[in-house]
Amino acid sequence: MNYDAVVIGAGHNGLAAAVELAARGWSVAVVEAKDEPGGAVKTREVTLPGFRHDLCAMNLSMFAGSAFFNKNKDALFAHGLGIVPAADCFASVFRDHTWLGVSTDLDATAARIAALSRKDADAWKAMLGEFGSDAPHIFGLLGSPMPSLAAAKVAWKAWRARGTGWLYDTMKLLLSSPRDFLDARFEHPKVKTMMAAWGLHLDFAPDIAGGALFPYLESMANQAFGMVIGQGGADTIIRSMTALLKSKGGELILGNAADRIETSGGAATGVRLADGRVLKANRAVIANAHPQLVFGKLLAPDPARAAFDARIAKFRAGPGTMMIHLALDGLPDWRAGGELRKFAYVHVAPDLEMMSRVYAEAVGGLLPGEPALVVGQPTALDPGRAPEGKHILWVQVRVLPAEIRGDARGEISGTDWDQVKDAYADRVLGVLEGYAPGLGGKILGRSVFSPVDLERENPNLVGGDNLSGSHHLDQNFLFRPVAGFSRYKTPVKSLYLCGASTWPGAGTGAGSGFMLAGMLGGK
Ligand SMILES: Cc1cc2nc3c(=O)[nH]c(=O)nc-3n(C[C@H](O)[C@H](O)[C@H](O)COP(=O)(O)OP(=O)(O)OC[C@H]3O[C@@H](n4cnc5c(N)ncnc54)[C@H](O)[C@@H]3O)c2cc1C
Repeated sequence: MNYDAVVIGAGHNGLAAAVELAARGWSVAVVEAKDEPGGAVKTREVTLPGFRHDLCAMNLSMFAGSAFFNKNKDALFAHGLGIVPAADCFASVFRDHTWLGVSTDLDATAARIAALSRKDADAWKAMLGEFGSDAPHIFGLLGSPMPSLAAAKVAWKAWRARGTGWLYDTMKLLLSSPRDFLDARFEHPKVKTMMAAWGLHLDFAPDIAGGALFPYLESMANQAFGMVIGQGGADTIIRSMTALLKSKGGELILGNAADRIETSGGAATGVRLADGRVLKANRAVIANAHPQLVFGKLLAPDPARAAFDARIAKFRAGPGTMMIHLALDGLPDWRAGGELRKFAYVHVAPDLEMMSRVYAEAVGGLLPGEPALVVGQPTALDPGRAPEGKHILWVQVRVLPAEIRGDARGEISGTDWDQVKDAYADRVLGVLEGYAPGLGGKILGRSVFSPVDLERENPNLVGGDNLSGSHHLDQNFLFRPVAGFSRYKTPVKSLYLCGASTWPGAGTGAGSGFMLAGMLGGK
């Protein structure tokens, strides 16, 4: 079988690349090891029939803000895409059982902040004003190949429009830790905590350089645009992308792993599947697979590549994560207030000190004593994901060790995730019970995915790392996955990488797949 391009992996980046190339007339096949496409974007009934849980990603704001979506939205909607907006986006609960949250109604957000600090409410509004002018430049940079003329043009235009001072401030933002950035702008610890929680979605504890950008962007983007989730489940993006791909003549082969990337004369020529078939790729093999899988397993060793392979072998995973899915009789009764039930995300990470502690424990191999949680309430917005009157809860535990050396509280013994995951999930639910008494009594079903289970679901999540590679500065921008290869090319001619391990990294923004297709197939 002959194709112009064979894509390994039906994550949303691989699918975006395939859709874009098929639209330019390329014949494309996407091969996926698992029986269902989507990678880290899947929705499944993992607790009880009728309860549809987003196994991994739930928040689709990055997808809705992406260049891929912007270009293809009409076709995606025609192929069944459904998105649900959240006006009450994210909130934090604190130890004194108060809360602070961001809603798209600026007056409502500002009033909540002003009740803590009038100065901070003014600072929030000022930051939002600046975001209005900064956003096109920052998103322009995040949406350009790195490095590229396009990125240089964005920086040049920004400098012309905003001046040298702005450029320095933006560079400072890119380099700052969450704490340094937030301390310089806000005074109330609860305001800083509410924003800093976004750093933990990536692998940025409060004091890690480079961690300020995500809390800034998420806080301001949620305030300005709100959050979106998928109608019926996050897999709506995957179902519509695969349908769109097929409508353009693309092929999707499921349940058949790529076993080997075939090469000849130093160039990739095709892909051998687990069932022995060989798919010839006349123009490109695109791997939406973790680079360590590509260069460690799928390619035959080659002494000419040794130095590159050694650098790829050192590409670091971020800490692991755990997902706990609950089928519920009713939404949590948050002690901090009933209004919290309306929020898409409630962060249970009540101060910067605990965020630092959780991170230090996790990277040191300890099960954190007080886990940091992202509690998603999708049925508050999209009730159809559960039977009438029932609900689901999406609980992501940030951050955890991939390999366990001990327990910070000294209570859980065992170092095998399969053995300790339920005990750890009990700890998590114990913490939640403190913030939402009675939650335990509402649970109808539960399903726990440890870091190891997540890697079993998707081999790109090495050690349960939801980022497919740490986002720290030395592995981001020009350095993702390694310096000199941030533009998706590899030392093997006609073999390209895309996906969360490549620029611009993790999340549902489809950036690498979209940009790679643009570079291969012209605009
Ligand atoms: C628990 C969790 C929660 C998250 N929450 C959010 C969120 O709310 N919002 C957000 O924006 N992002 C979130 N993310 C991040 C986001 O989901 C991922 O970064 C993104 O989906 C990665 O997409 P991808 O296309 O790069 O690859 P992946 O989704 O990782 O897909 C890669 C695919 O390649 C396949 N594959 C690998 N090797 C082979 C092979 N040899 N042969 C065939 N197929 C192969 C895999 O099976 C997989 O299907 C979350 C991630 C996790 C894990």
